[in-house]
Amino acid sequence: MEECLFCKIVMGEIPSDKVYEDSEVIAFLDINPRNPGHTLVVPKKHYETIMEMPENEASELFKVVKKMAVAVKKGMKADGISIGQSNERAAGQVIPHVHFHVIPRFLSEGPPGLESILPTKKMTKEMLDQTTEAIKSNMGIAVEKTAKPAEPEKEEPAETKKKIELDDESLDF
Ligand SMILES: [Zn+2]
Repeated sequence: MEECLFCKIVMGEIPSDKVYEDSEVIAFLDINPRNPGHTLVVPKKHYETIMEMPENEASELFKVVKKMAVAVKKGMKADGISIGQSNERAAGQVIPHVHFHVIPRFLSEGPPGLESILPTKKMTKEMLDQTTEAIKSNMGIAVEKTAKPAEPEKEEPAETKKKIELDDESLDF
């Protein structure tokens, strides 16, 4: 992906504050940290979403996320670690290249878990049963391509920049 920001970081075309690298995965400091030590963990191969990743590559990626959780927590003397990962526009994904956020958290700072950005929903027993079935009947699909038409590559950077500005004040996981 010629225009992908994270691919350019992987290739070294754009500098980054790298904290970890192996043959498949790279981790570097987020340029807009939610707290000092906010680290992004990225597969070197371009996948837009976690759903597109082969299971073994997703497993290797998460092994690094786990390692980074330990290193970031200890390195930043944090009280806790939040791990965030968003897929597709509806989820607030800004850079269309799979990435995990590893964010140090502190007892002094307030807001609770990342999942609390959405209000809780009331579910009846019938809705819970339907929901359980809807999920269970789709288990066993190893890889799902993102169902979305390809956009012209030249339009991506401007759109991405605009979204970053819009999202600046909010959590963008
Ligand atoms: Zn990429």
